[in-house]
Amino acid sequence: MNVEVISLYKLIFMNEKLVVVGAGLCGTMLAIRLAQRGYTVALYERREDMRKTGIAEGRSINLALSDRGIQALHRIGMSDIVNSEGIPMHGRMIHKGEGETTFFPYSGRKNEYINSISRGGLNIALLNKAESYPNLSIFFSHKCEGIDFSNNRISFFDEASKQLVSVEASSIFGTDGAGSAVRQSMMSLSGRIRFDFSQKYLTHGYKELTIPPARDNGYLIEKEALHIWPRGDHMVIALPNLGGSFTVTLFQDFEGPFGLNAIDRDLALSRKYFEKYFPDALALMNDFEEDILNNPSSSLGTIKCYPWAIEDKVLLMGDAAHAIVPFYGQGMNASFEDVFVLDELMDKGFSSWKELFHKFQEARKPNADAIADLAVDNFYEMRDSSGDPLFQKKTLLEKRMEQELPDKYFSKYSMVTFREDIPYYQAMIKGRKQDEILLEFCRNIDDVYALNLEKVLAHLALKM
Ligand code: FAD
Repeated sequence: MNVEVISLYKLIFMNEKLVVVGAGLCGTMLAIRLAQRGYTVALYERREDMRKTGIAEGRSINLALSDRGIQALHRIGMSDIVNSEGIPMHGRMIHKGEGETTFFPYSGRKNEYINSISRGGLNIALLNKAESYPNLSIFFSHKCEGIDFSNNRISFFDEASKQLVSVEASSIFGTDGAGSAVRQSMMSLSGRIRFDFSQKYLTHGYKELTIPPARDNGYLIEKEALHIWPRGDHMVIALPNLGGSFTVTLFQDFEGPFGLNAIDRDLALSRKYFEKYFPDALALMNDFEEDILNNPSSSLGTIKCYPWAIEDKVLLMGDAAHAIVPFYGQGMNASFEDVFVLDELMDKGFSSWKELFHKFQEARKPNADAIADLAVDNFYEMRDSSGDPLFQKKTLLEKRMEQELPDKYFSKYSMVTFREDIPYYQAMIKGRKQDEILLEFCRNIDDVYALNLEKVLAHLALKM
């Protein structure tokens, strides 16, 4: 498309007011990108400005940021934050029952690692950047209450004036998270737009605790790793924060004698549970009692829905369109990738928002479904298989292949996490098949180190 035609489109669209609902990670990034493209954007957020009031509790304090998310940050000119605020995590540090640890790199390639980053810090950095655009206005303490699609008016409850405010928009972007009010409004039209919706909870939920910094503000356990204490059907993980602390997350069933429902109300039982299963982690947690008493237990679930768009009126993105469980560390990365994919489609040119939204949802839905399913698979894999000798043998073989044949072999984890050029759907199909073949192959192998890897590759190619 030539430049004159692109600028004609811009002239047509510039008069339009785009409203983004939800100034979380996805919405703020999207608002920035739209403002960078010259559109007039209004960004509405239910909560108060977190830069003034502090960060809301109840969501994970830090997140694993990887290549898909970094690619999108790069697009809006913010990839520097990975070095300034992120802590590299090169692999999983597995803490066995007796306190002994083993390190498993995420990839055989040295340059492939994930980054622990503060959710609040990243959101604040995005808000600061958003505020620098004169064509982008942010309205905090405005809670979306519903949308009148016939007039494209959104109702917000303004906490300051305690009044309902009605805002007109040419197009609305629903980035208001897993409990999306925008999606609820679309559901009210369900018959007319044949809106599919499903929500599936895991039996497990999570609770956050803390490992504080060492006396010298250093780290009490290895800094550059994601720590896991796998214990069959329950586990604890810990991600490093700047300043020496770790955010610890317990993933546990809600039911049962040591279930989240039971330990939540019972300090003595919580301590007994941790003493039994995680004594070495407990020994590091000075604020254990406070964390157990104050931090909520939250549920984990997958939300799928479709369509994400209605004509040119509305488009769902991020968790509002596809909330997933956190076991692949991809929810935010996928939400950032949404912005990247939309931007790529805009680069290709579009004649109407309707056409753009349609193309976006068609391209993105299979990939969102794939990462949702992979994330659930990984929950079961971490829970049931990570201690299985056959699974460990396969993991070892894959690491060897990645180390010794770095351009020829990519595990499912590597494709999902480090290969932003491979869509999630393709990573899922290829990764699952590879897993199946290699697991079967490893059944008849005693020593992974005695294998000729070129022959293993040939075997894979034959069976794929
Ligand atoms: P959100 O971050 O939920 O933002 C939505 C925003 O909309 C919020 O600011 C909210 O206040 C606002 N809002 C809500 N309702 C309204 C309303 N009615 N009106 C106006 N505003 C509203 N992802 C990773 O990539 N890596 C990880 O390691 C990772 N770990 C996780 C660990 C846990 C325990 C959990 C729960 C999630 C994790 N995720 C992770 C997923 C990640 O948190 C989400 O995918 C990501 O936050 C989605 O961003 P979002 O902007 O779409 O939604």
